[in-house]
Amino acid sequence: MVNHLQRTTEILGDLIAYPTVSVDSNFDMILHMAGLLEDAGARCDVISSPCGTKANLFATLGPDRNGGILLSGHSDVVPVTDQAWTRDPFVMDEADGRLYGRGSCDMKGFIAAALAMAPHFAERVAARPLHFAFTYDEEVGCMGARHLADELSERGLTPGVAIIGEPTEMRIIDGHKGCNEYTTRFNGLAGHGSLPDHGVNAVEYAVRYVNHLLGLKDALRERAPKDSPFDPPWTTVNVGALTGGVAHNVIAPSAEVEWEMRPVQPGDADFVKQSLQHYCETELLPRMRAVHPGAYITTEIIGEVAGLIPTDENEARRIMAELTGANSSDVVAFGTEAGIFQAMGTDVVVCGPGSIEQAHKADEYLAIEQLAQCLTMLESLGDRLCD
Ligand SMILES: [Zn+2]
Repeated sequence: MVNHLQRTTEILGDLIAYPTVSVDSNFDMILHMAGLLEDAGARCDVISSPCGTKANLFATLGPDRNGGILLSGHSDVVPVTDQAWTRDPFVMDEADGRLYGRGSCDMKGFIAAALAMAPHFAERVAARPLHFAFTYDEEVGCMGARHLADELSERGLTPGVAIIGEPTEMRIIDGHKGCNEYTTRFNGLAGHGSLPDHGVNAVEYAVRYVNHLLGLKDALRERAPKDSPFDPPWTTVNVGALTGGVAHNVIAPSAEVEWEMRPVQPGDADFVKQSLQHYCETELLPRMRAVHPGAYITTEIIGEVAGLIPTDENEARRIMAELTGANSSDVVAFGTEAGIFQAMGTDVVVCGPGSIEQAHKADEYLAIEQLAQCLTMLESLGDRLCD
């Protein structure tokens, strides 16, 4: 009998040694993982990112047919710079029942467990295919998962069930808010502060824009679904930074607003965007351009991470409840790739080893006991594949 925990630990050590910080390439690690899955008999597809420096890995055990169960994780990790690590972040260190290293809990531990179990799955897979999806650039806006979802849609492949192994301490999570981040820039016309009508003060227009945005907060509160499981139950808006201008006596030629919203339902983001666009087109821009035709407002999308909307019927939740023995599910505050798979029509839960408390921090670790729990779940999943 293979010792799954020992094998998982070995693989995790290898994965941590690839410094797959989001800005850098993940290619070497993707090829390493593809090798392990091919050894187990999986059909592997390495799908390059548009820029060619990164890749998604999609692999399948079992029959070539639609549906199936997907185990998914992101291959990238957050940077270690400006963090006070007491050990090398890219060399796994075992101490006190914990495995230390960047990405140990977020989320190479789950990936290592899935890879270690591949031979076990391969022996048992029957009518229902088992897929693996390992993506790039999750930490910087879920770029890889979006790319993968497009690719799968083109092939007409929709997994029936997806398990996203982000660290939840193996709790079943069936909902999280979305996270949309934007930078809105205002370009006006500089001039002397004593002649305000001769310029277009970008800071003043930015303030009007922010004021309109804040006005939408009440409407969002009223739009909150009655049975919303989230805290707070409505879509929130935050203006995180407002910068611009030059000096006291200069009409500000430019300004910038960094803001975010966390939608609890898909329609809320469109509601906010449409209201802002209408306000800019009918109020702000005509006034700005009456003075300076070259004035403009642009909004850059920094990231739009779809929420995971809890649903009454969720096969992924049902399967995971059977496999883990948990009889309840919950929602979390952090975002994941789950909403992207849900938008494809897949039933999704987030469930993985480790705690989000340890993610993104110095001396990130994964408790070995958590890894063991994850392996128990995956062993039962393997047995379930037979029927
Ligand atoms: Zn993560």
